[in-house]
Parts: sequence; structure tokens; C-alpha cells
Amino acid sequence: MLVVKKFGGTSVGNKERIFNVAKRCIEEYQQGNDVVVVLSAMGKSTDELIAKAKDINPNPPKRELDMLVSVGEQISVSLMAMAMAQLGVPAVSLNAFQVAMHTTSDYTNARLRSIDVERIRAELDSRKIVLITGFQGVDKFDNVTTLGRGGSDTTAVALAAVLKADKCEIYTDVDGVYTADPRIVHDAQKLGEITYDEMLELASLGAGVLHNRSVEMAKKYGVQLVVRSSLNTNEGTIVKENAKMEKMLVSGVACDKNIALIAVCGLQDQPGVAFKLFNHLAHHNINVDVILQSVGHDGTKDISFTVSTDNLDEALSVMEQHRQTSLICEKIDVDRNVSKVSVVGAGMVSNAGVAAKMFEALYDAGINIQMISTSEIKISVLIDEQYTEQAMNAIHDMFINAAK
Ligand code: ADP
Ligand code: ASP
Ligand code: MG
Repeated sequence: MLVVKKFGGTSVGNKERIFNVAKRCIEEYQQGNDVVVVLSAMGKSTDELIAKAKDINPNPPKRELDMLVSVGEQISVSLMAMAMAQLGVPAVSLNAFQVAMHTTSDYTNARLRSIDVERIRAELDSRKIVLITGFQGVDKFDNVTTLGRGGSDTTAVALAAVLKADKCEIYTDVDGVYTADPRIVHDAQKLGEITYDEMLELASLGAGVLHNRSVEMAKKYGVQLVVRSSLNTNEGTIVKENAKMEKMLVSGVACDKNIALIAVCGLQDQPGVAFKLFNHLAHHNINVDVILQSVGHDGTKDISFTVSTDNLDEALSVMEQHRQTSLICEKIDVDRNVSKVSVVGAGMVSNAGVAAKMFEALYDAGINIQMISTSEIKISVLIDEQYTEQAMNAIHDMFINAAK
């Protein structure tokens, strides 16, 4: 059997934890299995490296940022190989270049294109545990890239897919996927199983327990995932195509504070205005989320939308470049103090009234809604960031605790 195990930053945060992970992997190895281990950078080291970069240059070239932050994962795999050697088990660490983990050239947010398996297979055949850097990639010009924050999950799922692994286990600091972030909603419940589609929505809406691309990839290649804790042996949550969701209307509540609201006011009310605005942003690969168009004064219109705070400065500078030509408007306002709170559930399609219940929960808590967006399996609202935790708890109580 071939097993891919991925351990996140907290799970390898210090010497004791590194040995804990080493022992868990060795147990699997000693059962005669082939073991591929994907590691993230230790503790908060990626954040620390980014802070170092920004201290030197608030707007660092993205290529150089990737060159820097990719180092964190290399420290983890090499230390882990040393820990395993200390425990008398043969292991080898490989970075993305050594494996040949090919990605696009979109620095800080690259997409995996292909992975060579020869080296990994050869090392497994010589009965070594193979330790691979998560998050890292290399583009066709041999530049180092990274897959975006949280991207080690995607490295693990991609490896499980190309190696046709029998198991792909994501070990983290909580023991599964919960109905909401258990650090925000203390009575959140652990899910035994969840579908790819619902997990993908939750991850995309801010539930950082899995990188959203990892779920996308797992669905595409049919990789069944288990999310579990590196600190205990509890069962965890299975992510798969058809899951038993215990007839829950809503499977989870998620929040995203990493967004900003841009309001473009006093645009001409004529065809093509929205197209030009969003086309400029699309050309720079800037994703736009919730969009609201409203009537302005004297025959003008206003368009408000959200972007990730990571893209905010770039979005503003792109818009500024076109203000004299194709984006004539009176003013552009920015609000960084907003957050998005969402409910997700496949059961929503066939049940009327989910939105009303969500709005009631917010009304009872006295929280104002700034924008609303819906799809078949989710409803999102934009609110003042300071009420995020309160909103999460109110909505969770309304749907999940009340359904018990
Ligand atoms: P790792 O370093 O192991 O990748 P992350 O910090 O990326 O760990 O992800 C685990 C964290 O995800 C948890 O500590 C938890 O706070 C957060 N989280 C957010 N939403 C959820 C959820 N629905 N279920 C479980 N954890 C969640
Ligand atoms: N170390 C990277 C990050 O902090 C990747 C990961 O943890 O998955 O984003
Ligand atoms: Mg993570």
C-alpha cells in the first residue's frame, strides 16, 4: 500500500512535534507500506519570512518572495529526515526542483502542471520514507514558485493522484472538519464525512482547514481525503464524492476577513461600463467576488465589489491607471473593515427559507448586512469585520444547534 501523509506547520512546530510525526510515519512504514510525507514550514515561519521581506521592501518582487518563503518547507523536510535517521529509519528529503514539480509561473499563486514520479518511485523502491516539500514548485524556466498560502495540502493531493496512492491523510491541529472553525464557534461539531462540493465551497469561503485547490484536485482525480489530528488518533473527517451528511440543511459556516470592499461611484450609466471595469482587473488576474450595482445620482451608477486584501493595492493601481480614459467616475472608496460570512449546504437547493433564517439570525444579533450573494449551495453576506465572530456564532446556533 502507498500512503501520502501531509503535516501542517503546527504539527512540525518544534523538536518534540517533529519526533512525534517521525514516529507516526515510521509506524506506517514498519507495516510494510510505502510512505510519502509532505511537510509545511514549521509553526508560523512562513508568516515570519513574509514579514522579513516586507521589512526590506513593502512591495517585494513576487519571484523573490517565492524564493524566500519556499525555504520554510525545505527546513522541515531536512530536519524530519534527520529525525528519522536518528530513529534508525532510512529517509530522504526532496524539494520541488529535485522531484520536478512543475507549475505555472504565477509567483505566489502558481498552479501545478505536472509532477515527475521517477525519483520518488526509485527512492520508495529502495525502501526509504520520502519527504517532500509542500507549497513549492518550479516553473519551466527553473524559477521557484509557490502554490499560495495553505498550498501544501494541494501538493499532497497532487502527489496522491499521480502516485495513485491508496490513502491521502491530511494531518493538522484540529481533529477533522467541523461545522465551523472550532476556534471561533466553540460548540462546532465534527463531521464524519463531507462531499467534495461542500468542502470546496467551505474552503473557498474561508475555512482554512484545507486549501481550496486541494479539494478541487481531489474531486477531479477521485482522491479520497482524510483530515485528522497529528496530536491524537481520533478518526477525522472523510472528504469524498458522496457523503452521508446526516440530512443537514447546512453543513457548515465559514468566514473570510481577508477581503476589502471597493466602491466605484458616479460611473456613467451606459452599456460597457461594468465590462471595462472588470476586464481591466481580469487582465491582472485579480479575482472579484460579491458585486453590487446601484443607482447613483443624476443618471450615474455605482458599482461595489470585494477583492482579496492581497490584491487590493494592485486593484486600486490598475483602476487609477484608467480613470482618465475608460473608467471615468467621481470617486473610488475602499473599506478594509469588512468580512464575509457564509453558510454552505447541498440541502439548500431544495429548501426554501434558508436565506430568511440566516438574515433572522443576524437581525436578532443586531448585525447589519452590507451585501448579499447566493448560489445553489451557499449564501454569503458582507458585514462589518468586528462582528464576524458574533455573526458566526449566531448563524451556527440558528442552523446547526437548533437542528440537533
Ligand atoms: P495546517 O498548518 O495543519 O495546514 P491550518 O491552520 O492551515 O493548519 O488549518 C487548520 C485550522 O483551520 C484549524 O486550526 C482551524 O482553526 C481552521 N478552521 C477553519 N475552519 C475550519 C473548519 N470548518 N473545521 C476545522 N478547522 C477549521
Ligand atoms: N507554509 C505555507 C503557508 O503557511 C504552506 C502551507 O502551510 O500549506 O501558507
Ligand atoms: Mg493549512
